[in-house]
Amino acid sequence: DSYIDGSKLPKIRVVVRKRPMSQKEINKNEQDVVECFEPQTVVVKELKEKVDLTKYIEEHHFVFDQVFDEAISNQDFYVQVVQPLVSALFLGSKVTCFAYGQTGSGKTHTMMGPPGDSEHKIPGMYLLAANDIFALMEDDSMSDFSVYISFYEIYCGKLYDLLNGRKLVHARENASQKVKIMGLTEAQITSVEETMEVIDFGLSSRTTGTTAMNSDSSRSHAVLQIAIKQDNGKLFGKMSFIDLAGSERGADAFDSKKETRMDGAEINKSLLALKECIRALDQSKKHTPFRGSKLTMVLKDSFQGNKCKTVMVANIGPTISCCEHTLNTLRYADRVKEL
Ligand code: ADP
Ligand code: MG
Repeated sequence: DSYIDGSKLPKIRVVVRKRPMSQKEINKNEQDVVECFEPQTVVVKELKEKVDLTKYIEEHHFVFDQVFDEAISNQDFYVQVVQPLVSALFLGSKVTCFAYGQTGSGKTHTMMGPPGDSEHKIPGMYLLAANDIFALMEDDSMSDFSVYISFYEIYCGKLYDLLNGRKLVHARENASQKVKIMGLTEAQITSVEETMEVIDFGLSSRTTGTTAMNSDSSRSHAVLQIAIKQDNGKLFGKMSFIDLAGSERGADAFDSKKETRMDGAEINKSLLALKECIRALDQSKKHTPFRGSKLTMVLKDSFQGNKCKTVMVANIGPTISCCEHTLNTLRYADRVKEL
């Protein structure tokens, strides 16, 4: 059952999405080692070797709120996973959807659609959500509200405004402990078409900005936020999509090359802080360690209060060659939920 009614939505859901084999993997005759038993179980078959070199298979079972195999379309995934967040958004919640996983596991495909799909024939979560948001904005009760969009990147602990030429912007905590990103562009949008244009514009600066040499999407977190505000400027609800840096990059923290090591350390830090902040959501009284990284700091208000709803999507690949990363992703996702 999907949570059509946003008010009944749990604060945290952790779901898995397995991507299909690529043509390249099929050509190489790669083995599919991931099996999804919908609705909740995923099994990974890891090939191991004993000391005497005999091979055996170790099965790892994981249970999540929902698991989806390679057959699920973006549209159906949206209905199951993200549409309930839109419903909560219109009840005044701060809702967040994270895509976690190794590079190539399908995070951006899920969030934005397949690469090079400039006409958005296969829209991702951004546009599918925008579609519903603008339909719901038509309601008379919403006539005093407007929709704003921000799009920025977190690279090496720094924030870059994708709607302003990848300009460096800074987050500040004000006297009332609210975190605000100073000078971040908030573009008012009134339709899905406009949303599409703004996102495409942002993506173009992701690759052509002045610091473009650092712009490797596997090393940065991309944050898209859609805010609904009252005419007096007061925030009503906010939806955040975070296409996280490749989770395997966290391991670069132990790399011998100084530059990748520094990026890796920052990514590692932010992914660990993220896990702790999501866990703290479930234990409302506990202190939220949002200061642990820039990522968690800018998302502070989405980790606090009873009305926050979060979905963590663990994106995984199917093949034996990414088995180790797949297991790491599933273990991380497992701990997000574990109390
Ligand atoms: P990531 O953002 O995690 O690095 P991508 O989203 O770029 O990974 O996915 C890598 C490749 O796999 C892309 O070509 C993408 O279109 C393809 N892919 C990922 N998920 C799916 C899916 N569910 N269905 C079809 N192709 C997918
Ligand atoms: Mg990507």
